[in-house]
Amino acid sequence: MEPDVPRLKDLIRDIPDFPKAGVVFKDITPLLADPEGFSLVVENIASKFEGQGIRKVVGIEARGFIIAAPVAHRLGAGFVPVRKVGKLPWEVEAEAYELEYGTGLLELHRDAVAFDERVLVVDDVLATGGTAAATIRLIERLGAKVAGLSFVIELGFLNGRRQLPGRDILSLLHYE
Ligand code: AMP
Repeated sequence: MEPDVPRLKDLIRDIPDFPKAGVVFKDITPLLADPEGFSLVVENIASKFEGQGIRKVVGIEARGFIIAAPVAHRLGAGFVPVRKVGKLPWEVEAEAYELEYGTGLLELHRDAVAFDERVLVVDDVLATGGTAAATIRLIERLGAKVAGLSFVIELGFLNGRRQLPGRDILSLLHYE
């Protein structure tokens, strides 16, 4: 089923100046709450990447988890969380990602992905691409292969794809 883009876009709520002045926050909660909309998102991501031997779907904290988990289930893959620093209880690999002032750390459990395993990365929004790029570094440091990345929303004006050269990227909804 092709996504009805105008209908899905109607389910995204723009929140100006959240979490701070100048940012228009893309609130996906109305889309998640819509049975057909949520299903279309999961189905479109899963159908693009099915048949590619994906063994793990990595979701990026926190909204990425909500999309990644049903996609993993649909692909017959496992779900893996990438989390902000200090949340994962066992041994981790850590990578810095860019914040507006300075950097943050993202973490992945050392045994969460295996050598040569094919992995799909999922998040809600591709903005500058820093978060996704750091996630790729974490996965590849553990020897796994990033088969692709998928986002519900891509903010094209922030050029996130520039940080993800050569990657297979599916974004369902584009904003220029
Ligand atoms: P970036 O690293 O700049 O690509 O930012 C991506 C991360 O920040 C994702 O995990 C998003 O959830 C979040 N994010 C960035 N910009 C927005 C936005 N305008 N609306 C909602 N979430 C955003």
